[in-house]
Order: sequence, then structure tokens, then C-alpha cells
Amino acid sequence: MTWNLDTIFSGGSESEELHRYVKQTEEDLSRLESLIQPFSAPKNVEQAKELSEITDHMQVVMKELSEIGSFVGCLNAQDVHDRKASQWQSKRTEMGARFDNAMTAFDQKLVQVDDTIWKSLLSEPALSDVAFVLDERRQKAKDLLELRQESLINDLSVDGYHAWGQMYDTLVGKLSITQGGEELSVGQAANHLSSSDRQVRKEVFDKLQTAWGDQVDLFSETLNHLSGFRLQTYKHRGWDSVLKEPLDYNRMSKKTLDAMWETISDYKHRYIPYLNKKASMLGMDKLSFYDVEAPIGSTDQKMSYEEGAAFIVEQFRKFSPKMAAFAEMAFDNQWIEAEDRAGKQPGGFCTSFPDSEETRIFMTYSGTPSNVATLAHELGHAYHQHVMNDLPVLNQGYAMNVAETASTFAEMIVADAAVKHASNDEEKLALLEDKVQRSVAFFMNIHARFLFETRFYEERKEGTVSAERLNELMTESQKEAYMESLDEYDPTFWASKLHFHITDVPFYNFPYTFGYLFSMGIYARALEVGQGFEDQYNELLKDTGRMKVEDLAKKHLGVDIEQKAFWENALELCVADLEEFMKLAETL
Ligand SMILES: [Zn+2]
Repeated sequence: MTWNLDTIFSGGSESEELHRYVKQTEEDLSRLESLIQPFSAPKNVEQAKELSEITDHMQVVMKELSEIGSFVGCLNAQDVHDRKASQWQSKRTEMGARFDNAMTAFDQKLVQVDDTIWKSLLSEPALSDVAFVLDERRQKAKDLLELRQESLINDLSVDGYHAWGQMYDTLVGKLSITQGGEELSVGQAANHLSSSDRQVRKEVFDKLQTAWGDQVDLFSETLNHLSGFRLQTYKHRGWDSVLKEPLDYNRMSKKTLDAMWETISDYKHRYIPYLNKKASMLGMDKLSFYDVEAPIGSTDQKMSYEEGAAFIVEQFRKFSPKMAAFAEMAFDNQWIEAEDRAGKQPGGFCTSFPDSEETRIFMTYSGTPSNVATLAHELGHAYHQHVMNDLPVLNQGYAMNVAETASTFAEMIVADAAVKHASNDEEKLALLEDKVQRSVAFFMNIHARFLFETRFYEERKEGTVSAERLNELMTESQKEAYMESLDEYDPTFWASKLHFHITDVPFYNFPYTFGYLFSMGIYARALEVGQGFEDQYNELLKDTGRMKVEDLAKKHLGVDIEQKAFWENALELCVADLEEFMKLAETL
């Protein structure tokens, strides 16, 4: 149940091999800088050679930096007290910043290339493989201001934009509530919101409302400044829509986003009877915001690690022998750290080593059905990386909205099988409810976040938005997203949800829902096609780092995701679970 990191670099954080590798990377980084510095914008196609020399070398450095980053991440996760690992972390951050600066300079040179020459350059054999990514880099650089102005923004954002995000974290760290004679951080307290005891949920929710409510003035200040900085930057760049940045980053169109939310809105009413049913099962008339994720019944079914592994491999095999063989290999080669012990980081992740062409999965396995689901989820991520191994590194980068495709797909296979294998109806109901609850989170909770964020940014353009108004906007968005089906809402959610205060990626919400439904759509296709789907699926995964999502769907699924039909198909699959749940709930 523990992973083997020695095949990457032997000796943990004291590794000599790692030491040498970092040194080599630094040399390669210097070489990259010395290639980019004298490089001038190509004036003819013959200069494709020069450009490809840089992109080749760039990919070497990218590979090395991710190899180091992943290794250091694993060291930190397995032992949070490993000081040497933290030192490596800082070293890696420093090298990453150097690399980013070199890339910014490189991108600026691409902007200066004449459009016609650029086109012919990209069709040269040496560059055509990475044409999409290069063209995207150039386009993004074109959308920015000139280098000097962008550098100024970057420098000011350290103590401006990003500082507000950090200030938020500091303020949150100071909040606590007292529950059962114990002092709890707001993070610990939030865990009690999924308690099976309504009294506990209500008490903790009320205390949290008071704790956040007492400080809304501070949080409205951090949020207003952070968003103000963002909007000013957009204004200077001439960007009208706040959705430009997140949509570009996720390589998707506004039309796709609209088609997705519209279809979800069409289907929402189907979930109201479920919410009412859940309320009556929990002994109340209407659910409150803090009841939606409450557990109904419980399953005490446990699977040992070996049983969990065997179950996953068996289910994968029904869809894809290649996926099953990959999972077996990951188990056999100790790619997974699953031991339940103290001193480990919480949570789960999958990280890849593009140079060694290996991946590692981190989690804590205690045998619950949700552990089995997480393990399958992370194996899905690992498989995604596995099929991309042969590609140029530049083509291996995929955005958040497709990042969860393979993981959700893998999780779905196993969750469906778990429902089928349930030993009794109570257990089956609990497993089904878990699936339906997830849909509700993506269709309602995340929709509320999206509605809030779009509306808030519109009002922010006109000036500062008061804490009272933020509470109001949040409550209105939740009412709309949940179709007024709840008794009590969470007005201070804008303050308590970290995602509104993240500065590296704006709109940390719709990509989740996209990923979930996109993967559902693929799963629907897999169920239709059967075993023959495997190769088609692999080809789709391979293209996730070098295409817009609309082109990806058209090429591999033959569908237009700017139209509702694709989303309807995916939602039908979710609704099927819902109906099964409702039918079973009637009989119990
Ligand atoms: Zn994931």
C-alpha cells in the first residue's frame, strides 16, 4: 500500500540523483534563455529551423521541471514534516519563475511575426506537430498589452492582486467556532456539515454564518479589491467580457457554455421531487442548504485494498482491456500510496513524471466505497497521462474542463458497478443517492456560483459592491439555481468559498460542471458502442492537449457541443440514476 519513488530518484529528499537532475535542469534552463535572448521574429520560412530548435529545447526543460515538481510534491505529501522536501519545493518554484519569464519573452517575439509567414511556419514539418499550442501562445500574447506594460502589471500584482488573495487566506485562518466545547477552524467545522445528525448540522451552520457574518466587511474588501484589480487589467487590455479569460484558458466557446447551462436549466425541475423525497426521508418538509449533502442511511460495506484493486480492474476490463492492464501495472509496480497512517497530507491526487513516463497516485485508503471511487478516479487521471506519453510535451497540457474527463469516466464505471453489486436495497439506495447528490452539486451548487460570479462582476464594474449586496446576490443566485426548493440558503457563501478568491484562475466553477457532463456524454457513447469504444476513447484523450473542446467533440464523437443535443444525452444518463433512486425509495 505504499508507493515506490526510488525508481524515479532513489534516496527520497536526500537523493543524489535528484541533486544531479536539478543541476542538469538549471543548465538546460540557462541554455534555453541563451537561445531565446538573441532570437528575433522569423522573417521567412527558412527560420523554421531556429524556431523548432527553441521549441525542442523548451520541451526538454518543461519535461524536467514537471519531473522535479512531481517528485517534490510526492515527497511533501508522504511526509509533511520533510524539511528538505520543502527546500526543494522553493528551488522548483524559483526555476519555474525563470522558465516563465523566458517563455514570456519568447511569446512576445512570436507576436512580431507577420501573419502569412506565421501560417507557413506552422505548416513546416518541424513545427506542424505543435502548431496548435504555438498558435495559441501567440494569440494569447497578442491579446495582451506590450511587454513593458504587462511586466508592470505582473510586478504590481504581487503586492496587489495576489496579495488580496493571500490576505483572504490569512483572514480565514483566524476564524474559528466552538462546537461541543472544542475550538474548530472553519475548515474543520465545515466537515460537520455532512454529519448525519441534523441538530449538529444546523448548529454548526448557524455558528458559521455568525463567524463569517461578523467579518463580512473584511471579506467584501478583499473580494472587491481582487476583482477590481482584475477588471482594471481587463479594461486596459480592451477585454469587455469577464468570461474571456476563463473561456480562453479552457479552450471553449461562449456558445458551448450557454448550451450547457441552458440544457441544465431545462432539466433541473426533474431534481425537485428528489430534493423533496430526501427531505421527507430525513424527516423534514423542506431541505435547507446544509441538508442537501447529508447522508441518508449508511453503508458499512468495506473492501480491503486487494479487493478494491481487483474490483476496479475487473470493471475497467469490461470497457477497455487496455485500461485494465494499465491499472494492474500501476498496482504491481507500486505506483500508489494508499496507506492509512499519520503525517500524510489529506486528500488525493495523481501526478505524472513525463521524463520517466510514470505516474504516482496519492490517497488514504480505509476501505469505504468512497475510497474505492477515489482510487478509480485517480487511476483515470493516470491513464489519461499514460496515453499521452508519446506526445510532444507541449501537447500534453490540458485545461481544467477536460482534466476531469478520464477520471470521471473511470469513476463512473466503478460507481455503476458498485450499485449493481450492492448486497441489499438500503445499500443500493445509499450508493445511488451518492451519484444523484453529485449531479445536484454540479447542476445547482456550481450553477449558483457561476450566476453569482457573473452578476457580481457586472455590478463591480460600476463600483464597490457592499457586503449586504453580496449577501443578497448570493441568496438570489442560490434561489434561482435550486429553483427555490430549499428552506434556508447560505448568504455568506461568497465569503466562505475559497474559489471566489483564487487569483491564478478566474471562474473556478463552470469547468467542473463541463468536465462532469462531457465525461457523461462520453460514457453514454461508450455504453452504446461497447468494447470497440476503447480505441476511439484513447484517441480522444490524446487530443485533449492540442484542440479546442468543440473540435475535440466533433472529431471524436461526431457531435456539435455548441448545440443542446449532446448535453441532453449526458443529462439523460444522470436522470436515469435519479429515476432509479426514486423508484427504489418508494419501495423502502
Ligand atoms: Zn480529479
